[in-house]
Parts: sequence; C-alpha cells; structure tokens
Amino acid sequence: MRLDWGWVSSFGPAFQGRVARFITKIGASDQCGCRRWLGDFTVKGYGKIYFTTPFGVIYGAHRVALFLYTRHYPYKDCACHKCDNPWCVAVGHLWWGSRAENVLDMYAKGRAVNVRGEQCGSSVLTRIDVKIIRKEFAGGLYTMTALARRFHVSVEAISDVVHLETWRDI
Ligand SMILES: [Zn+2]
Repeated sequence: MRLDWGWVSSFGPAFQGRVARFITKIGASDQCGCRRWLGDFTVKGYGKIYFTTPFGVIYGAHRVALFLYTRHYPYKDCACHKCDNPWCVAVGHLWWGSRAENVLDMYAKGRAVNVRGEQCGSSVLTRIDVKIIRKEFAGGLYTMTALARRFHVSVEAISDVVHLETWRDI
C-alpha cells in the first residue's frame, strides 16, 4: 500500500514533516512481511508515539501507520494485528476493527495459535504459496482479488507479494 503524499501535503508542511519523520521509523520488511517500529515501545510492546493529525492526536505507532495509509481516522476503532506482533507497523498486517471485533480476533487467535504459517508465527502464506501467487498473477489468469480469496489472505498481502514488498528472498 502506498502513502498518498498529495493527501498528506494538503494538510500543510508541518504535518508533512511529521509524516516524513514517522516513515523513517518504520523498519524493513522481514520474511513474514512484518515491519518493526524503530522508536520507543509501550510496556505491552506496541510502538509508542503521540502523533498529532489534522483530526486529532493518535496514540500508538501501528494506529498512526494504519491511519496514514488508509486515511481513516480511528476515533474508537482498534488497529488490529493479523500477525500478533504488537511492534509490527506493516500496514498489510493491520485492519481497523471495533473493540468487540478485536476481542473476538484475539480469542480466535488464541485457539489457532499453532496452526499458522511457517518459520514465524505471523506468516500466513508459505514459500510455495508465494511462488504460485507470483506465477499465476504474472500469467494474467488471476486478479489479486481472486488470489486473495483463494489463499485466504487480504488483497494487500497479495499485492505485497506480487510487488516484492514481502518475501524478497524468493
Ligand atoms: Zn506483522
């Protein structure tokens, strides 16, 4: 997912500067597509930042990242992790949910913790999946939406795989 700099700059140079500094604190993508926050952390392991936006202050690096890329100001929404890594600020690993959805999600993950992915707990695609996705997308037979449905991941995750944002070593 790309950051819309036109949208960012429409709020003036001060905001644009804050966003530019925020972006420098997002670490490189690991083999699972997770991006580590390079700043301070809360006791629970979330990226710690108070970030002033034109709509209000947002607390938490993962919430700020998701806001900047989705342009959705969260109000009471939770930025939920698909990957269970509170330090991760990869936008493709985050989704806006209500508090109730967040609790349900954590409950579902608690039960499913040993059945996910390879190498690290956060991976939902395997190396073989990645090869198939790239080949089939390049072949033009499948859209990203169709591949997302088939592999039970988000369109963002497929887009990241296709554009080498994740799994660069394959
Ligand atoms: Zn992640």
